[in-house]
Amino acid sequence: MITYDHIMVRFGELSTKGKNKIDFIRVLYKNILRALKEFSGLEIYMRHDHIYVVLHDVDYKPVIERLQEVSGIQGLSLVHKEKDREIENIKKVALELIKQEKGKTFKVKVKRVDKKYPMVSDEITRAVAGYILKNTENLSVDVHNPDILLSIEVKEEAIYIFSHTYEGAGGYPLGVGGKAMHMLSGGIDSPVAAYLLMKRGVQIECIHFASPPYTQVGVIYKLEDLLKVLNKYQARIRLHIIPFTKIQEAIYDHTDESYCITMMRRMMFRLADRLAKMRHCPVISSGESVGQVASQTLQSMRVINEVTNMPIIRPCATMDKTDIIDTAIKIGTYDISIRPFIDCCTIFTPKSPKTAPKLEDCLKYEEEFDYEPLLKEALSNTEVKFISDEEEAKDELL
Ligand code: ATP
Ligand code: MG
Repeated sequence: MITYDHIMVRFGELSTKGKNKIDFIRVLYKNILRALKEFSGLEIYMRHDHIYVVLHDVDYKPVIERLQEVSGIQGLSLVHKEKDREIENIKKVALELIKQEKGKTFKVKVKRVDKKYPMVSDEITRAVAGYILKNTENLSVDVHNPDILLSIEVKEEAIYIFSHTYEGAGGYPLGVGGKAMHMLSGGIDSPVAAYLLMKRGVQIECIHFASPPYTQVGVIYKLEDLLKVLNKYQARIRLHIIPFTKIQEAIYDHTDESYCITMMRRMMFRLADRLAKMRHCPVISSGESVGQVASQTLQSMRVINEVTNMPIIRPCATMDKTDIIDTAIKIGTYDISIRPFIDCCTIFTPKSPKTAPKLEDCLKYEEEFDYEPLLKEALSNTEVKFISDEEEAKDELL
């Protein structure tokens, strides 16, 4: 029986990337190899226009599901590769394949990539569709809304025939977009923001501010569990845990309660800025969403942002909480995020935090204590963990 023996991986947005394209494809190829390593028996190879997965005897369903999680893939088709490109042979193969499909109407769609092929697309379409009509009883052609769309791609090395196409995750392959220093809190939003960045090809390092004994060690286990889920997209993630207690206490000793959160976040961004520079990350990222809490009004963001000249990417900035939650559920971080925990932002929460803080007031409070040594101390006591889903990732350069 003739079967669909390959998966054809399409690049989408990547195809527009000119001379970077081949580097992007190489990165995607590497990411696909890693994503599919749990399946033995597959053969994976790369060409300039597509990547192919040869299934041999492996069930295609779980392979496609896993590939749908890999960023940089626009679409996936289950294809039959036919090396004998003679039209008589193609007609027979197409007939065999269409007989295995359910449906009453069909359409043949031909893409002639090899411009030297002796027949043009229209001729191939007519030859194949005519042959199918002649040799089947219950099938008719519907060019607008067919039950079965039989696609034929004519290439130099072979002809590919397919009728099942699946959506990919889109975006860019992880690793082509550089690296962001991501602020990870353990809530719902920041893991979603991390995922959205990775989907655009950006690798992450994470920074977490811990305030023991006010925050518990359980938070770190939670972060590790979250990052293990994100390991699906990035095999190895560096987590910097910054001791924040002394800074936080100093802020509470010298600042009006209503300004504590603003001040705390200014210190967080100062530390993130320094760590990002030390780790060669050109941007900082966070899970902030406009208007969600007092510290995320536009005025608060402006005053907090003032401590750094680095770009801050906030992938969730304009998302509604419900959409953020939907994404968290989809990627599998939601159940971990909702485990109860205390974040350094939630201890000593002021009764009425400023929604429109003033920069002069922040500067005035900051003059009242020498925070610089505290920042230095926090950075030098930072603990680093690697969250990784595999042994081999230890060699990976991040
Ligand atoms: P999340 O649901 O991700 O916790 P949130 O809605 O609770 O976000 P905030 O607590 O105001 O919002 O935090 C906003 C963003 O600031 C977080 O998404 C995260 O990027 C960063 N952040 C907050 N607390 C910490 C922390 N302890 N360590 C690192 N980053 C933090
Ligand atoms: Mg939170």
